[in-house]
Amino acid sequence: MKVVKFGGSSMADAGQYRKVRDILMADPQRQVVIVSAAGKRFSGDHKITDLLYLCYAHIQYGVDCSGIFDMIAARYLDIRDDLGLDLPLEQELAQLKERINDKNISQEELVSRGEYFSAKLMAAYLGFQFVDAADWVKFKLDGTVDQDASYEALRSHVFMGYGAVIPGFYGVMPDGTIHTFSRGGSDITGALAAAALDAAVYENWTDVSGILMADPRIVDDPQAIPEVTYDELRELSYSGAQVLHEDSIFPVREKNIPVNIRNTNAPEAPGTMIQAEFAGDHDPDRFITGITGKKDFSIISMTKRGMSNQVGVLQKVLTVLVRHGISVDYVPNGIDNVSVVLPTWAIEKDLYTIMAEIQKEAQPDFLTVHHQIAVVAAVGRKMAFRPGISGKIFAALGESGVNIRMINQGPDELNIIFGVDNKDFQKAIRVLYNSFITK
Ligand code: ASP
Repeated sequence: MKVVKFGGSSMADAGQYRKVRDILMADPQRQVVIVSAAGKRFSGDHKITDLLYLCYAHIQYGVDCSGIFDMIAARYLDIRDDLGLDLPLEQELAQLKERINDKNISQEELVSRGEYFSAKLMAAYLGFQFVDAADWVKFKLDGTVDQDASYEALRSHVFMGYGAVIPGFYGVMPDGTIHTFSRGGSDITGALAAAALDAAVYENWTDVSGILMADPRIVDDPQAIPEVTYDELRELSYSGAQVLHEDSIFPVREKNIPVNIRNTNAPEAPGTMIQAEFAGDHDPDRFITGITGKKDFSIISMTKRGMSNQVGVLQKVLTVLVRHGISVDYVPNGIDNVSVVLPTWAIEKDLYTIMAEIQKEAQPDFLTVHHQIAVVAAVGRKMAFRPGISGKIFAALGESGVNIRMINQGPDELNIIFGVDNKDFQKAIRVLYNSFITK
C-alpha cells in the first residue's frame, strides 16, 4: 500500500483534481491520500491557507472579512461545480462564516479548514472514505505528536481495500481542540499516515519533478536528484534547499519507508527517491548530490596567542552565545584562532553587548566580525570515498574569482561548506553546478 500526499498546487482547481484522480487510478496501491488546502492556480493568485490567516487577522482587529471569506468559499464551490459533484458544502460554509463573525473560532481551527474542505471534495470526487485528521492526529500538551496514539487511531479508521482521503496540516490537542503544524505541515500528516500504516512508500506529489540539484532561481533548469539519502536531505534542507517539511522525515525514517517526490503535472517523471541508503551506484561519475546555500551570515573571529595550549577559551565564547540564546552554525578554527558562523539576524540586536562580553570573558588579542557572508554547501554521500573533490571545488571557485572566506566539513564528510561574500553567492552556486553537475 502506498500513502500519497498532494500539495496545494495539485489541489488548486478542478483540472488538478482530475490529474490527481488519473494518478491514483494508474496505481491501485495508492490507497491513502493526504491533501493540502487549495494553492495558487497562477502566479499572483492566493493560497487558501494565506487567505484564512488573513481572515483571522481581520476579525482580530474587528474588521469584516466577508469579502475574503467569500473568495475562499467560491474557490471550493467552483471546484465542486466544475467536477459536477453533488456535495452540499453551502451549509457548512455558512456555519463557518457565522462562527468567524461571532469570533467563535480559534485561529488554528480556522486555518485548518482549507485542508478540511479539500479533503471533503477529493473524497467525494474519488468515491473514497473521508477520514478527518481530527480523529487520529493527536498532539501532546507540549505540541509534539503522540505517535503511538495517533498510529493506533488511524489504523482503526482506515480499512484496507477502500481508499481514504485525509486532510493534512492539523490534528487535535488532548482537550479536542484543533492544533496545526507549522506551515507546510501536510507533509508531516502524510509521513505519519505512511508510518502508521507501514506503507511501502510515501509519495509526495508537488509541482516539480523531484528535488532539484540547485535552486532554479539561480541555475537555469537544474536537473532533479534521482536518489538522495535521508542524511543528505537533512544537510540540503539545513543549508537552504526547501523541499519537504523538515519534521516529515522523522516518522518515515524510523520505519525505513522510502519517500518519493513526484510531479502532478509530469507524472511520468520518476522524481526523487529518498531512503536510508541505496544499493549499487547508478551514476559513478556523479559525486555531488546537490548544491545549496543561504545568504546573510556573520562570522565572529578571534585570535589569541597561545590559545591552542589553553583550556576553555572556546567554551567562554560559546558561553556568551548560549547566554544570549544564540545557536551557532559552524565553528571553523585555526591554531590560535577560532570563528563562529551564525545567521546575522540572530546577533544583530545584541551584537555590541555580545562582542563586549566575548572580549571581557575570553580576552582575545583580536576580535572581529564580518557580515554579508553567504554559506554554500556541496552535499554528496559519495564525497567521503573520493579524494580530490574539495581540491576541484576550490580550483573552480578560484578560477572564477570567487574569494572563499571560510571552509568547513562535517566529520561524516557528507558535505563541504564554505563561506563567500553575499555578492558572490549566486556565482559560486553556478560555478559549482557547471563544474560538477552538467557533465
Ligand atoms: N496549507 C498549509 C500551508 O499552506 C499546509 C500545507 O500545505 O502543507 O502551509
